[in-house]
Amino acid sequence: MRKIYLSTGNKGKVSEIEEILSDLDYDVYSKAELGINEDAEENADTLEGNSLIKAQFLKQYTNDIVMSDDTGLFVNSLNGRPGVYSARFAGEESDDKKNREKLLSELQDQKDRSAYFETIITIIDENGNIYQTNGKVEGTILTQERGDNGFGYDSLFVPNGYDKTFAEMENFEKNKISHRKRALENAKTILETLNEDSDN
Ligand code: IMP
Repeated sequence: MRKIYLSTGNKGKVSEIEEILSDLDYDVYSKAELGINEDAEENADTLEGNSLIKAQFLKQYTNDIVMSDDTGLFVNSLNGRPGVYSARFAGEESDDKKNREKLLSELQDQKDRSAYFETIITIIDENGNIYQTNGKVEGTILTQERGDNGFGYDSLFVPNGYDKTFAEMENFEKNKISHRKRALENAKTILETLNEDSDN
């Protein structure tokens, strides 16, 4: 079986990825299983750039396939902010709650509250070939939080076509339609192609 190492150590993400890739011939490992405790410095100004930085960082430690993801929330009336800076929107000392407060205050009196989450996934194969793909979900930012299942901006984001925030959904409901799920389905297609190529 071919091996894939993930740049994330987040248990929720690792199990979500394992589940989506479970019918492929790949063994999935987290970065911790390579004995790496540090993080790459994410200093690019795009999701594509940061996702690539994380994948290349991991690739230094293994000849196997590596996969990384980077996500941001893009708010249209804020010209795409917080975007690539979503994790640190409220500054160096930011946490999820402070980031949500900052978003609500920036959107005060704002009529256009449309936004989208985007995830970029980077895969680097055994030969160093780089593949990138994405997943997006569009929605609206509420004027106050709803729900407490979730993290980041989940309690403020209602995906189009739904009347619940991501934080009011069960994990399995969110994971069916999320940006990360869509990006992972596209990543799965890339991995399937890699497997077919190696079979020929
Ligand atoms: P990361 O690239 O997955 O670490 O995401 C960067 C930041 O985007 C996180 O710190 C969260 O603030 C936000 N974020 C990412 N994914 C989600 C999500 O599924 N729901 C809500 N916020 C998210």
